Amino acid sequence: MDHLKNEVIKFAKKLNSDNLSPLRSGNISHRAEGDKDGFFITPSGKKYSDLKSDDIAFVSLDGKFDEKGSTPSSEWRFHQDIYLNKNDAKAVVHAHSVHATAVSAHGLDVPAFHYMVALAGGEDIRCAKYATFGTRELSDNIIKALENRKGCLMENHGQVTFGNNLEEAFELAKEIENICHQYINTIKIGEPKILSSSEMDKILEKVKNYKKG
Ligand code: 13P
Ligand code: ZN
Repeated sequence: MDHLKNEVIKFAKKLNSDNLSPLRSGNISHRAEGDKDGFFITPSGKKYSDLKSDDIAFVSLDGKFDEKGSTPSSEWRFHQDIYLNKNDAKAVVHAHSVHATAVSAHGLDVPAFHYMVALAGGEDIRCAKYATFGTRELSDNIIKALENRKGCLMENHGQVTFGNNLEEAFELAKEIENICHQYINTIKIGEPKILSSSEMDKILEKVKNYKKG
C-alpha cells in the first residue's frame, strides 16, 4: 500500500505548490485497495513539505485508527462518510483555496453563471452549511451538499471534492477554485445571467464525454 501513501504525499505537496492550500491546511486521502476497508489520509497539523510515508494514517471505514500511530487529519469523519456514501469515490481533496473560501464565507451556492459549473456534477455547486471543523455535523452537512455532486463549498471554510483517483479529485478542486474566482468577478459587475435548467441538462450530458486526457 506504499504507492497509495506516496500518492497522498505527492498531492498533499501539490496543495501547497499549486496554491490550493498553504502549509498544513486542507487534507488528502485515498481509499485502500483490495479487502482493506478504509483509507490513507494526511496527518493532522503537519506541514506537507515535511511529510514522510510513516506520517500517513490509515483509518478503517468504521472509523478506527491506531491511537499510537500518526494522528489522522481532524477531518477524517467527512473523508470516511464520503467513502461510505459514494461508491465511485476513490480519493478526496479538501482545500482552503482562496476564491472558493471567499465565496463560502457568504454561504453562497454557485449558480450556473458559467457552463463549467457542471463539472461538479449538477446545475450549481452547493455550499455545505457551516459546522465546526472535524465534527460529525460538518460531515453530515457535506454529505447533503454532495447529493448528485462530486464537489461542494464548505461555508466559512473552503471546498471538498472526490474522484476516481487523486488526479481527478485534485483537478476538480482546481476547477472549482477557478470557477469561484470567475464568479467573484462576475458578481462585482452586477447580477449575472444564469443558464437555464434545460441548457444545463444539455451541458451535463456533454461534459460526461469532455475529458479525454
Ligand atoms: P488537519 O491538519 O487536521 O487535516 O486540518 C486541516 C484542515 O483543513 C481542517 O479543516
Ligand atoms: Zn479545512
